[in-house]
Amino acid sequence: LQWEKHVRTSAEIRRAEGMSVLVTGAGGFVGSHVSLALRKRGDGVVGLDNFNTYYDPSLKRARRNLLSKSGIFVVEGDVNDARLLARLFDVVAFTHVMHLAAQAGVRYAMENPASYVHSNVAGLVTLLEACKSADPQPAIVWASSSSVYGLNDKVPFSESDKTDRPASLYAATKKAGEEITHTYNHIYGLSVTGLRFFTVYGPWGRPDMAYFSFTRNILQGKPITVYRGKDKKNLARDFTYIDDIVKGCVASLDTAGRSTGSGGKKRGPAPYRIYNLGNTSPVSVPDLVGILERHLKVKAKKNMVEMPGNGDVPFTHANVSLARNELGYKPTTDLNTGLRKFVKWYLSYYGYNKGDKSGM
Ligand code: NAD
Repeated sequence: LQWEKHVRTSAEIRRAEGMSVLVTGAGGFVGSHVSLALRKRGDGVVGLDNFNTYYDPSLKRARRNLLSKSGIFVVEGDVNDARLLARLFDVVAFTHVMHLAAQAGVRYAMENPASYVHSNVAGLVTLLEACKSADPQPAIVWASSSSVYGLNDKVPFSESDKTDRPASLYAATKKAGEEITHTYNHIYGLSVTGLRFFTVYGPWGRPDMAYFSFTRNILQGKPITVYRGKDKKNLARDFTYIDDIVKGCVASLDTAGRSTGSGGKKRGPAPYRIYNLGNTSPVSVPDLVGILERHLKVKAKKNMVEMPGNGDVPFTHANVSLARNELGYKPTTDLNTGLRKFVKWYLSYYGYNKGDKSGM
């Protein structure tokens, strides 16, 4: 079959100690970057994405074209498709699964709650079932979220903090994902690492996120809505640059590989880990706008509005000691530098600098 031939070629490992990784959500922001980083150092990578229309699918297809140029094949399909997953695990003995496919965004959960249950709960279970039955069992690294800390007001957030006050359905499905993966870990011996990403931004980012839509509106001379807390305090986020997140993902895959051999079937209990991947220095949303104004050389028209109760939390702040000690994770890009790189990509991708080709 043509499809199987592409999958096999894409999964080929080009370095002695390499791994073969199924990356779900490979057409997405984080998934496309992680896929390219793995391929660059010689690991085998096969992508899976349903290319849904939550945001501009042409951006997802452009990311897929970049992956394809690096020899990465992305299968178009849904993580809820058990037969497709079984076929994939038959064709390739994946050592690892990097699970990034999900319905992201906190606000859209008010409009389409079922899509969160479909992808983040049912889809996760379907994928875990396929991993459970695969031989060898792959080690799983997947994206949880800083949103599990919810209305926790103890800062910075540490992995041992309580996560019992989710502020959105999105957060609740990520928290459910942590419980579900933990269950598969202790019942079926699957190796699982959950990564709590903190507001990831950068080139090829997600158009539904504030820094991206602010950029679009500022350039088009349209007003932007900036939320403030009920106490008039500014919202703040621990914005984390994509390259730092990618390094954390790759280190997690390597660490999971070291402790499970080829993943799964091993002596002793399989590992279950959760790590914060953040930047450790929150920035307020008005300060983020100020940085964008400087890089874009355009003043924003700001509407300051009290935050509606739609799932946003007032602030996030990661403690990354655990990831630093166990994965060697060390974020190195500050918001000013990261946004400069984002703006450069944005202007090029959307044709503001004609003739300037953009790559990752
Ligand atoms: P993204 O939306 O760009 O990527 C997710 C991809 O998964 C999309 O391309 C989408 O088409 C695909 N997808 C969704 N449901 C699917 C399904 N049922 N089957 C197959 N494919 C499906 O989002 P992202 O920002 O790259 O996020 C990646 C992961 O990281 C997600 O799990 C997200 O929840 C998590 N996360 C992201 C951030 C962030 O700031 N970007 C923060 C915390 C957690």
